[in-house]
Amino acid sequence: MRFGTIIDEDGKKVRLTDATYIVYLMSKNRRIRRAAFKKLYETYDQFGNTFASLMDAYVREKVSIAKVRGFESSLQASVFEDEVTPEIYNNLIKTVNENLDVLYSYYDLKREMLGLSALHLYDIYAPLVGSIDKEYTFEEATDITINALRILGDDYAATLEDGIKNGGWVDVYPNRGKRGGAYSSGCYGTKPYILLNYTSQLDDVFTLAHEAGHSMHSYNSRKNNEPQNSEYTIFVAEVASTVNELLLARKMLREVQSDDEKLNILNQVMETYKGTLYRQTMFAEFERDMHEMSASGHPLTKELL
Ligand SMILES: [Zn+2]
Repeated sequence: MRFGTIIDEDGKKVRLTDATYIVYLMSKNRRIRRAAFKKLYETYDQFGNTFASLMDAYVREKVSIAKVRGFESSLQASVFEDEVTPEIYNNLIKTVNENLDVLYSYYDLKREMLGLSALHLYDIYAPLVGSIDKEYTFEEATDITINALRILGDDYAATLEDGIKNGGWVDVYPNRGKRGGAYSSGCYGTKPYILLNYTSQLDDVFTLAHEAGHSMHSYNSRKNNEPQNSEYTIFVAEVASTVNELLLARKMLREVQSDDEKLNILNQVMETYKGTLYRQTMFAEFERDMHEMSASGHPLTKELL
């Protein structure tokens, strides 16, 4: 995807990419946040009908295969492997919906602190504390992460440190043609590879700790199990990663000096909470409803989605 350019803080034309998008969305400057947001979604919008027909075909296939295999729904078919029931899935969505007031009050606090009359989607990643501009080199991020995770044992810390520093576990920086986001990958018999798009922000340090959690989980699971028993289910996967983020946050909260720095880290924790609990569940709800509509014969058009 080519997203074109926007004008940055210094008046320079800069290229918008998957990796830089989030950096601009976390800008203190609302004009830059809005420009990046508009540009990205305008580009996606040009392909709206293509995405919708791809999605329609994909979901119809899921619905058909579930029917052929005798499942009640594509939802039941999807969660079957993880030994999760549709009731658990639906209960998660229901519980999150019943507690949206917590999310709304967080957003309201954020809106107030940012001094805005209304909070737009492009404002929700803006920093709460504008005065903090600290950047972290990848080497610093590695040391901070390993020190925070030392509580999990010397073996854990040493394995991770060696993997990152000498083992070639991590593809660190954004690159042309490289996908955005961050992932932990690999398979039985390989290193637990980590894909990052590191841009030196506090959020990137937390992302490293998060992916390190997945990778150490995989590493230990593969090391201690036969291949057929070494995979873990998606339902438990985020435990290892989010625990690492919380360990990092607690360590940093103990060590930073100023109230602003503390606030910045607490905001990072709130963002993790928002993303992991609220946002992911909203994805699940969207997906569930999309599958239900498709199963009842509605074509998934761009407008419907
Ligand atoms: Zn994760």
